[in-house]
Amino acid sequence: MTSDPNTDPQTHRQTHRQTTRAAWHPRTAMVRGGLDRSAHMETAEALYLSSGFVYPDAEAARRAFDGTDARFVYSRFRNPTNATFEQRLALLEGAPVCRATASGMAAVTAALLCQVGAGDRVVAARSLFVSCHWVLTELLPRYGVTVELVPAADLDVWRAALARPATCVFLESPSNPGLEIVDIPAVADLAHRAGARLIVDNAFATPVLQRPLALGADIVVHSATKYIDGQGRCLGGAILSNDAVFDEELLLPFLRNTGPCLSPFNGWVMTKGLETLDLRVRAQCASALALAEALDGRPGVAAVRYPGLPGHPQHALAMAQMDGCGGAMLALDLAGGQPAAFRFLDGLRLIDISNNLGDAKSLACHPATTTHQRLSPDEQAAQGITPGLVRLSVGLEDHRDLIADVTQALARV
Ligand SMILES: *Cc1c(COP(=O)(O)O)cnc(C)c1O
Repeated sequence: MTSDPNTDPQTHRQTHRQTTRAAWHPRTAMVRGGLDRSAHMETAEALYLSSGFVYPDAEAARRAFDGTDARFVYSRFRNPTNATFEQRLALLEGAPVCRATASGMAAVTAALLCQVGAGDRVVAARSLFVSCHWVLTELLPRYGVTVELVPAADLDVWRAALARPATCVFLESPSNPGLEIVDIPAVADLAHRAGARLIVDNAFATPVLQRPLALGADIVVHSATKYIDGQGRCLGGAILSNDAVFDEELLLPFLRNTGPCLSPFNGWVMTKGLETLDLRVRAQCASALALAEALDGRPGVAAVRYPGLPGHPQHALAMAQMDGCGGAMLALDLAGGQPAAFRFLDGLRLIDISNNLGDAKSLACHPATTTHQRLSPDEQAAQGITPGLVRLSVGLEDHRDLIADVTQALARV
């Protein structure tokens, strides 16, 4: 079934001047990818807030259901607004297919559950967003799937774990919140030799900085809630792949029949969010670097964890696979542990305390007592989540105001 609106008999448009072109540069694709104007020739993308669709006759309905005609039948299957979002994001990730989901966790869960069964083996990086950790360590084992977690940055352990066959490999890079970098090409190679598909959670890097499929991954998952919306409004997610068997035989039937679909309203917000993704992410990265440099070596700061600083243990790898940028997330390890971290957070006057990230507003949180509270102290330590760790999501404010705020808050610690 094609997802190009220009060849879609459902849309009946004669007015197309634009087509989705793979040759566009990313900033053009962000603004125009998937654009599917209605007969009204609106400037902005139309919002098709409709659960269902109608047919001119019974034969047309029959042909839609047997797959002869690629028309919209029901928004759990496919929706024109979400199709625009999917095509736009697919161009950015260099993927033939993209499937929108209701949230990042819906994307992670569907990408894993659609392809594993009892007796299968999954290998994953240990440093994970806490709900990804739950799906892997609590949910999958209930269905007879064995999961092995490995230290994200240790290729020797990846090699040993993937010396045995596996169904899939899951990783985040950079990881949340420890900002560890996984060598995606190296792990992709090991995964393929083990017969596994590699799934990369690209929420932190975004396709502006990192395109995992080009680095060897088979599947990319996104929390669109973060940088793709970028303004803290809607939840959403996406699964992209260049593996047609995975998409057609495993993912699509799973998504259509279980229904973790994106609301078209949220899909419209995400589509408009993509238009400014490159500008926002690059500005946020520049501010994150300025902040990291300003904080590195300050009294009370035991370490600044930022892949863009030469002192990060995987700096060279990060620069090579993230377009020379360190990203817009950083973490401060405060020497005084949890009391220092709390005094620091309570001393912030501009930056908000929030567990969300990727917003235009800068946000700070204490992972050990919020997002990653569920993990045991041992598991927190294994993921580098120290009691003094504060995660900063750098927003779009002037970096001088951010540095001033963090500096005055540090002085109160
Ligand atoms: C937030 C996040 C998710 C989950 O996304 P939701 O949209 O909140 O469901 C998954 N992975 C990473 C790395 C995240 O930061």
